[in-house]
Amino acid sequence: MENATITRPAVLILLGPPGAGKGTQARMLEESFGLVQLSTGDLLRAAVAAGTEAGQQAKAVMEAGGLVSDDIVLAILRDRMAEPDTGKGVILDGFPRTAGQAEALDGLLAQAGLSVTSVISMEVDDAAMIARVAGRYTCAGCGEGYHDEFKLPATAGVCDRCGGTAFKRRADDNAETAGARLTAYHAQTAPLIAYYEARGVLERIDAMSGIDTVASGLAAIVTRVSAQ
Ligand SMILES: [Zn+2]
Repeated sequence: MENATITRPAVLILLGPPGAGKGTQARMLEESFGLVQLSTGDLLRAAVAAGTEAGQQAKAVMEAGGLVSDDIVLAILRDRMAEPDTGKGVILDGFPRTAGQAEALDGLLAQAGLSVTSVISMEVDDAAMIARVAGRYTCAGCGEGYHDEFKLPATAGVCDRCGGTAFKRRADDNAETAGARLTAYHAQTAPLIAYYEARGVLERIDAMSGIDTVASGLAAIVTRVSAQ
């Protein structure tokens, strides 16, 4: 019975701090499940370019130097989710950011007979993340990436790829900045995590366990929730 496998479109939200591999995982989910990642920034730009009603409203607000309201973002999201390529489901990126927005999103989805199927929090070990980011540097000649702990050149001070001996570090790849980014992330997402946990749709996944392990964990969650 073919119909047995056709269920409602999945609405996934991936939460994770910078460096947790969210982008990579979202792309893998798009490929494996035919989901479409909807990033708020891209949606806004596309709606403005297409000149939809909501797009025109967004354009007017942005030109006046204002912040696009939740209502406009929701209208743009609603229009986008009505397009046929999102039939299998979507991964939302950049929205919601607050519990208020999450509540408004629930309202929008309910109108379409949908709901958030799963919110996946990609959990990281802060200290390990800071070490990962803080140790990064690149070859000044060819851009090859290295790491103080995890990936040193075979010969100290000589690039494996181009033989160059000059290396550089990004100013924001230091422990202090990485720590501040994580603190801001936790502060911003804590209310969202609480909101979705209370609704029984929160899943936690260990984002430190390697790209393939994380990918299979995510795939198992998506398979399970889309069969419900
Ligand atoms: Zn090099």
